[in-house]
Amino acid sequence: MARRQKTSHAWVYVIWGLNGLAILSLLAFLAFYRTNLRASAADEPISTPRRGETRILPPTSYFLPTLTPNPFYTPPVFETSTPFELANGPRPSIIGFSLAGRRIEAYTFGDGEKRYLVVAGIHGGYEGNTIALANELITYINENPDVIPSNVTLYIIRNMNPDGEARDNGVDGRVNNNGVDLNRNFPSKNWTADWDRDGCWLYRPTTGGKYAGSEPETRSVMSFIRGHKIEAMISYHSAALGVFPGGVPWEEPSKRLAKALSKVTGYVYPPIDTGCVYTGTLADWAVENGVGASVDMELRDHKNTDFEENLKALKVLLNFQP
Ligand SMILES: [Zn+2]
Repeated sequence: MARRQKTSHAWVYVIWGLNGLAILSLLAFLAFYRTNLRASAADEPISTPRRGETRILPPTSYFLPTLTPNPFYTPPVFETSTPFELANGPRPSIIGFSLAGRRIEAYTFGDGEKRYLVVAGIHGGYEGNTIALANELITYINENPDVIPSNVTLYIIRNMNPDGEARDNGVDGRVNNNGVDLNRNFPSKNWTADWDRDGCWLYRPTTGGKYAGSEPETRSVMSFIRGHKIEAMISYHSAALGVFPGGVPWEEPSKRLAKALSKVTGYVYPPIDTGCVYTGTLADWAVENGVGASVDMELRDHKNTDFEENLKALKVLLNFQP
């Protein structure tokens, strides 16, 4: 019994001894830390900038990551599918963008109060010769500005469907990037998403759009026409079916324009009736929305621009009174 008590007493001394040692070293550390803190604070002199002096802040470093370019990132390219630029001429205005972000451009010539419009490339690369014709007309007018009467302003939208043109120069280049036939997407009174294909173009599946005016290309041209009071317009196509007046049924001023254009170009009027019913066309929507006269006009084939004929057509258009 006595022996056991003695042992436990010894343990109490040891434990207390250790406790005391721990407290002492803690105090020593605290004292050391505080003196160090004061010393390092005193090291940096607090400088108050004098009048007129700029205070220079000490450099601060952050752990910022370095920027490494993502090898899979492709910057978006905003360009027309066929590069076209007048060497010494007016810059086009951008009236909108295609689904792929390509520019839809309008060239302006003259500054008279009577406004006329030419639209090309609504069926993209499939009718790419209409875009080539527009480019030729733009170049010609720029070199021969006298073709524009003094009371006239002419707008040329040279490529309404740049995505279709970029995609293909054949049947695959006709629709926009949503597979929509843009000349069936305008919100004219007879718009339909689908139509009877009898007598119509049927080389590829196409639609009139999810709703009338659903496509950005269509809306760009719509807002351009709404913003400019247009006397008369030609929407170019190919190939061979002739000149189609706007309106359902065809409106008188558009029929007069079609006849006059047919006379100078040799393109047939009345146009060849294949039995196809055209819905949601630009020409129909245009006359329903304030354009005086409007036609869909087809070049002779898918290759040539028929430039001489269409220079005569341009003169007819610019002198046309609806
Ligand atoms: Zn066409």
